[in-house]
Parts: sequence; structure tokens; C-alpha cells
Amino acid sequence: MQLNQHYAELKESYLFSDIAHKVSAYQAAHPEADVIRLGIGDVTLPLAAPVVEALHAAVAEMGVKETFHGYLPTEQGYDFLREAIRDYYAGRGIALDTAEIFISDGAKSDLGNLLDLFDTENTVLVPDPVYPVYVDDNVMAGRHIVYMPANAENGFLPMPPAGGEGALADIVYLCSPNNPTGAVYSREQLKVWVDWARAHDALILFDAAYECFVAEAGKARSIYEVEGAKDCAVEVCSFSKMAGFTGTRCGWTVVPQGIVHEDAETGLRQSLNRMWLRRQTTKFNGVAYIVQRGAAAVFTPEGRAAIEKNLDYYRKNAAVIAAALDEAGVWYCGGKNSPYIWLRCPAGMGSWQFFDWLLDTAHVVGTPGAGFGACGEGYFRLTAFGDAARTAEAAKRLTAALKTL
Ligand code: PLP
Repeated sequence: MQLNQHYAELKESYLFSDIAHKVSAYQAAHPEADVIRLGIGDVTLPLAAPVVEALHAAVAEMGVKETFHGYLPTEQGYDFLREAIRDYYAGRGIALDTAEIFISDGAKSDLGNLLDLFDTENTVLVPDPVYPVYVDDNVMAGRHIVYMPANAENGFLPMPPAGGEGALADIVYLCSPNNPTGAVYSREQLKVWVDWARAHDALILFDAAYECFVAEAGKARSIYEVEGAKDCAVEVCSFSKMAGFTGTRCGWTVVPQGIVHEDAETGLRQSLNRMWLRRQTTKFNGVAYIVQRGAAAVFTPEGRAAIEKNLDYYRKNAAVIAAALDEAGVWYCGGKNSPYIWLRCPAGMGSWQFFDWLLDTAHVVGTPGAGFGACGEGYFRLTAFGDAARTAEAAKRLTAALKTL
């Protein structure tokens, strides 16, 4: 027996445990300090009422012989949910076939599982800083990773590399709105990526987990808003941030039927959609009927209204944090089309130095940018997912503290 050696190459992720450690040590030393946490990426509002009602109704159905559901008719997901998702895209002018939509138990699983479809000899291109899962998924498989710097110069939105190793990449990860930077690609920028991917026979893995936060005209919520994307891009999406499903678990992945690859040597033609269906029917038994019913309720008129109300709550939090940084004259991006605000640490502080300073001075906790990649050093992430009153209090303290520098 031999183990997968690549697991030994994974870097231990100490980011959130280090933060928890530092906060509890601080709290122990300063029991009177009222610490506010703006570091988490988890939602805090409960599921919306129409979702809860749908979950209850589905539970009741499962307890009655005539309406009980066993194995799914297809591992790909129930028609009612795939049709609702198809219509969600159609409302934005994007035509998808339900055969291209696969229900998942969340974006994280599919971001890793999709890699089953690609050779381990492929090179992957990953932005830095980045949601750490993209890197670890590929380290586990032993794939070569090339990083593309995201920085203030490119607005934290890297564009296709003109040369070097990156130009030869086979798989590219794009996350927009981005975690951790909150930056969002415009349709024009994504068009450049799509044209590049088609010209280079590369595949884009587009993580749209935060698409529901996009508010500005011209910013893309889906890569399929761009012509040609259905030939070269897979989109991964989630109910987690959109509808508070972080603990309920449901998402979807779009694998277009137009992505067909012909091997230059053997002439073998393979459809990515067929491969993914085969993979899912073999290794996945679908998402619970009850959960899929809850997810479908998100797309009803009552569901949409309730979800928008929750999103507005988080958007207001983001605006409150942004206003505090504006007042203090601190550079940041994100917050407008994203629940994340990415700020440049003031007074030349490093990410962790600022973390300690902010905890000590304002009793506010955020996430050091260095934890998301080397290019995140000198930056800091604050999230809008907290309680509104606590966020307002944190923002007040933030401005007061920053003004002392
Ligand atoms: N993609 C990004 C960029 C994320 O930040 C997260 C979670 O924080 C996920 C995917 C995971 O989403 P899910 O809860 O659907 O697995």
C-alpha cells in the first residue's frame, strides 16, 4: 500500500486557528474587552421563512408513503430545482439547458470533484491571494500550480498572462466577486479571459459563489454573460451566501454541452458534460430531496423577496464599514458588489501587525490578507456578514482607531 504522497506537500492552514488562538489569548488577558468579530466568512442571518416552510413541507412529504422520496430519479438533481435555476439564468438573458445544470451539496465539493475530469499533468493558474481550496485541491492531485499576482495595480483582477508558464496553463480559476478581495470582473474583462481560454485550449473554472452581491451595471454575475463562454467555462455556484445555506448545503454547477475536447494524438472526442454526468452518477448520490425543496423556494417570488432583504442587510453592513474607511482615508476595494472589504493596512503595517493593532486598539477582529497568499501581505479582510448593530459599533471604533495613526 502506498499513500498519496502529495498530501505531505499540503501547507498546514493555521489562519483561522491562529486567529482564534490570538483572540482567546487577548480575551483572557483583557476580560473587560468587548471584542467584535468581522473576520468570519459565514452568514449570520437564519434561513428565510419561505425556505423554512418548504423544508417543513418536504419533511412532511417524506413521512407519507405516497409522497416519500428514495434515491433521486437522477443524481444530477430534481427537475424542479434545475428548471428553477435555468429560469434564474434566463431572467438575465442566459440560455441554459437543464442537462447542463448539476445540483451539488455546495461549491466547495464540486470545486474539488471537478478535477477528476482533468489529467494530473495539467498546469493550473490560480490568482494570489485566493480562496485556499483551489490550491489545496490541486496540491492533493500533484498538479503544477502557477500563481498570477492580484494587486492594487491590476485592481485585484489579474488578466491573462502574456508569456511565461502561466500562458501555457490548462485550467484557470477565476473567482468573482472575489474572496478575499471583493473585486469583481466586468463583462469586458471576462471576454478577454474567454477569448484567451478558447485560443489556448484552456478551461476556466468560474467560482460565482458570491454572484448575488453584484449590484453595479457592467459587472458580470455569470461568465455566461460573455459570448463564447459556453465553449470553455464551467461555473460553480452556491446557495450558501445567497440564501444562508452554509449549514444546509446546496449549490449547483453548470457544465455546458459545448465543451468538447479532441485529443490531438488519439482523436478521442470527449464531452465534459457527459464525463461529469458519468462521474456524478458513479461517485455521488445527489442532494437530499428536502434540501432541494428548500433551495427551490429561494426562486419563488416570496423567496426572492426574503433573500433580497437578507442580502440588503449584509450590503448595508458593507456600506457602513466602507464609510468608516472612507472617513479615515484608508484604501480599500470590494464592499460594493461583495460582502468582503479588502483594505490596505495603514502606516505600512503588515497583515498580522495590523491584526494585533486593531484587536488591541479597537477590539475588532478581521482576517490578515497574508493568510490568502503571498500577495495578500499588507492587506486585511473585513466581512459584512455580522450583526448590523455590532458592525456599526465596529465601524465607529475602526474610524476612531485609524484616526489616531
Ligand atoms: N467559493 C468561495 C470563493 C468561497 O468563499 C466559499 C466559502 O466561503 C465557497 C466557494 C464554498 O461554498 P459552499 O458553502 O457552497 O461550499
